[in-house]
Amino acid sequence: MTATPSPVINWDAVQRDLVNLELIADPAQITKLSQDYYTFSPVLVPLLSDKRGDLVVRPANVDEILQVARVCVQHRVPLTVRGAGTGNYGQCVPLQGGIILDVSRLNQIHWIRPGLACVEPGVKMAAFDKEARPQGWELRMVPSTYRTATIGGFIAGGSGGIGSITYGQLRDRGNLQALKVVTMEDEPRIIELRGDDVQKVNHAYGVNGIIVELEMPLAPAYPWTELIVAFEDFLAAARFGQALGESDGIIKKLISIHAWPIPSYFVPFRDRIPEGQHCALLMVAEPSLEPLQDLVREYGGTICYDKPAQDTHRGTAIGEFTWNHTTLHARSVDPDFTYLQTLLPPDPEFAFLDHLYHHFGDEVLLHLEFLRFHGKVRPAALQLVRYTTEERLNEIIRYHEERGAFIFNPHTYILEDGGMKTINREQLQFKEQVDPYGLLNPGKMRAWLER
Ligand code: FAD
Repeated sequence: MTATPSPVINWDAVQRDLVNLELIADPAQITKLSQDYYTFSPVLVPLLSDKRGDLVVRPANVDEILQVARVCVQHRVPLTVRGAGTGNYGQCVPLQGGIILDVSRLNQIHWIRPGLACVEPGVKMAAFDKEARPQGWELRMVPSTYRTATIGGFIAGGSGGIGSITYGQLRDRGNLQALKVVTMEDEPRIIELRGDDVQKVNHAYGVNGIIVELEMPLAPAYPWTELIVAFEDFLAAARFGQALGESDGIIKKLISIHAWPIPSYFVPFRDRIPEGQHCALLMVAEPSLEPLQDLVREYGGTICYDKPAQDTHRGTAIGEFTWNHTTLHARSVDPDFTYLQTLLPPDPEFAFLDHLYHHFGDEVLLHLEFLRFHGKVRPAALQLVRYTTEERLNEIIRYHEERGAFIFNPHTYILEDGGMKTINREQLQFKEQVDPYGLLNPGKMRAWLER
């Protein structure tokens, strides 16, 4: 599927109409702001590396966003929203050029109440938690990019992360209360979506409106201790992960399991994790440490690193070695690594996991993130794959799928093909309503392209 080229646009007239707005026209800057982390995928690199916007606009408030939307509609200019640009699948890469709308200046926290907050989309997650934690609250789940990524970008492009072991994924009902979007109609307006309607915009890569406000449900903020537990045996580590996930009395935020040699890629922990051992990277509430120690003992693990909650803001953050940061660290050691995202089929004895571990050996290294999936604790795999060819990668994907695993394919920029979002009739109709000219992040939504 190829993106259609943009019509001839009178950029002088566009710039004139963007009066009083902060613009970036420097080509080097535009190129930088046209990229994200699609570089993790050797399949996407040749498809996306030459794609760039024509102009970057950095609005300071919602009125300015309305102005940009009006100008884009009037001149039929494609518009791609950018938060921090940490997405993985070329989500914010402008396939048809046009304007890149950098919303990072919309970074106000409107209010924080017990269990709920209202924010602008450009608020960075770590910055939010810094404000909320003294009041006893924090975001329910954050990606491992939480220090740089924006809340709007997480909702429009992310899926879950640290905290998902307790709260599930972003798409689960209740994890996003409400949002407001600016439309790309002839007369752009702000509309509010609440309840199940939020799913129209959730994980939609910004093709269904520009998010300008979000109501985010919060979680109680505990003092989190960061730990690494080492195991002689990979399956023992995986079973420990499952047992910890199911230990309802132990409060945790992260259970991340890594088969050797992945721990050897975690440079700051190299002298802590014994050579050849598989490990669990954990965030556990300080009051739960005593029962955790008993569980570690039961599964034959050894705690080889712990950082007390009071040192959270000092030194290395363990979360930044989990979720897709694992891939980042592996690639810094060997750039031929790529990855997969897999929901493993129900496998109570871990027989399938054991099979995968031995079947692929050193070609596919197992990295598991435990999460709550429809109320049950399940491992998701973010396997590291030693890339050779696209054909072999597809063979590996097929091998998993034929045995009941579901792959959320990170090697496509097409929304539906990624597998995290199904576009139904209602969502397509919503797109026709809010973006009748198909200007928002064009080329990403198959249902729109094939309508
Ligand atoms: P961007 O990359 O800027 O945007 C993401 C998508 O949202 C784009 O399609 C963009 O057009 C759209 N968008 C952004 N802002 C708006 C808005 N205001 N209105 C409408 N659309 C908008 N993801 C996870 O879910 N969990 C993880 O644990 C995780 N770990 C990662 C680790 C690494 C090393 C990397 C590189 C990526 C990881 N990601 C993860 C992906 C990404 O970091 C997160 O999804 C992040 O939250 C995206 O936020 P961002 O501000 O960078 O969004």
